[in-house]
Amino acid sequence: MDKVAIITGGSRGIGRAAARRLAHSGYAVCINYRERRDAAEQLCDELTAAGCRAMTWQADVADASAVGAMANAVREAFGPISLLVSNAGIAGQMQFQDVTEAQWNRYFDVNVKGAFNAVQAVLPDMLHAHAGSIVTVSSMWGLRGASCEVVYSATKAALIGLTRSLAMELAPTGIRVNCVCPGVINTDMVQVLGQETLDELAHMTPLGRLGTPEDIAAAICYFASDESSFVTGQVLTADGGFIL
Ligand code: NAP
Repeated sequence: MDKVAIITGGSRGIGRAAARRLAHSGYAVCINYRERRDAAEQLCDELTAAGCRAMTWQADVADASAVGAMANAVREAFGPISLLVSNAGIAGQMQFQDVTEAQWNRYFDVNVKGAFNAVQAVLPDMLHAHAGSIVTVSSMWGLRGASCEVVYSATKAALIGLTRSLAMELAPTGIRVNCVCPGVINTDMVQVLGQETLDELAHMTPLGRLGTPEDIAAAICYFASDESSFVTGQVLTADGGFIL
């Protein structure tokens, strides 16, 4: 199978670093985004100027037909899809009693149904090839409780369940499914916390710093590569020791 990857939420943060690293390791990459066309296109230009194969595609991962259209466009541009990095996600802090039904639904639509939509869109290629790799991006808060992030935490725990069960179901087909659980990573997502809290979180991290998008991209690329050819259904926490 040729190396062809879709990275959902590839325009910024962790997905951006993963797309860059994968492109430089020979993948044709589709940089998916929802709003930030500027960021996606800037990365695409950077990668193509460096001789990599890259394209951008706007799709809200919560929208199954938009995700299906993206997969078709990638097939047309680069051929069958061999790697999915299901990374797009949203987060936010609120007390549980204040969570509205609409917020609950949106978190699950993006963080969980978004993965469902993306996996379903790429699976036909992988099943046909009896090969492929799917990497989901959960969170350490999918493994531990997170006060004021109950909904986010619930969506990330669901992703871990999806990863393990899908890995079992797909193992006989040669498709591997693994999950990365980042700790606190210095991206746009956490800026809302403010510098003081980020400094505290760095202090609470045994390795003494926040993670970088590149730290997580390295874990994603391990699961994507043949270096992990006998690894499936695994959940790799990359959090500087935060939840040890
Ligand atoms: P980020 O900097 O906020 O970037 C989010 C990315 O996801 C952007 O590319 C955004 O696209 C895209 N996105 C958001 N909603 C989308 C949707 N409905 N459809 C398609 N794309 C969408 O976030 P990040 O920190 O890189 O986080 C990436 C993943 O890691 C998320 O799943 C997050 O939960 C997880 N994670 C992050 C941390 C952390 O500390 N940062 C920790 C644990 C887990 P636009 O640019 O178009 O908005």
